[in-house]
Amino acid sequence: MTRPMTAPEQARPAGGRRVPTPPAPLPIPVVDNHTHLDIARDGEEPADVGEVVAAAAAVGVDRMVQIGCDLPGARFTATLVDKHPAILGGVALHPNEAPRLAASGSLATAYEEIEALAGHPRIRVIGETGLDYFRTGPDGVGAQQDSFRWHIDLAKRLGKALQIHDRDAHDDVLRILAEEGAPDRTVMHCFSGDISVARACVERGYLLSFAGTVTFKNARELRDALSVTPLDQVLVETDAPYLAPVPWRGATNAPFLVPLTVRVMADVMGVSVPMLCEALSENSERVYGPW
Ligand SMILES: [Zn+2]
Repeated sequence: MTRPMTAPEQARPAGGRRVPTPPAPLPIPVVDNHTHLDIARDGEEPADVGEVVAAAAAVGVDRMVQIGCDLPGARFTATLVDKHPAILGGVALHPNEAPRLAASGSLATAYEEIEALAGHPRIRVIGETGLDYFRTGPDGVGAQQDSFRWHIDLAKRLGKALQIHDRDAHDDVLRILAEEGAPDRTVMHCFSGDISVARACVERGYLLSFAGTVTFKNARELRDALSVTPLDQVLVETDAPYLAPVPWRGATNAPFLVPLTVRVMADVMGVSVPMLCEALSENSERVYGPW
């Protein structure tokens, strides 16, 4: 016997994850500040970039910053930015990648290649770099910190923005940025600190980029952090394919889901959605330059 499939079942792909439907469009276009179009989750194929860009544009996410944070990802990013006017790029060796390359003796050549790719005029970001004490154990801390310092220096030498990955390492991230001298345009990607870390970043002039995590039920601390972030220092991102916002938590994320995060952020910040959208676009252009 056959029974009619319900909508959620129809929307479930072979991998078992739900497939999000488009949210209501934003009134003013915004930028997804950090996405990984080269990364596919287990059991999935990377999405078609043209389709991703079109789906995002249809709901008011007119531009995005593609982040390639290993050598294959960085090469992919440098070719992608030539093909899609909506996309700018960032390249770096991820904090979990640097210790691995250091251990295999290939870090120096990897740095050379990242630096060469970063010279592209549409690669406007060095990132994501920083520290990850969650995935990398104590053995890798030295290599991570050296790599972080190298990337900070590269951003300053090339006059690019810096995007920071900070997982369970707030104190050391802030300390090393202060020791090295942060670039003029420094973005805390997928901000994950509490209200005191947020205040420290705001005071130093960094931008705080919020991901779908700010919509999660248990993310009270993150919403408190957002509530003390001024309108001219806030950015939004997906970190796709990870961290899909509510009500699609656990699904594969993509730039077209940014409106869900933006609406929650406007509520937390006590501003209208159009006002926040305008700020998000202006801040993105200020940090990365026009495109
Ligand atoms: Zn990322």
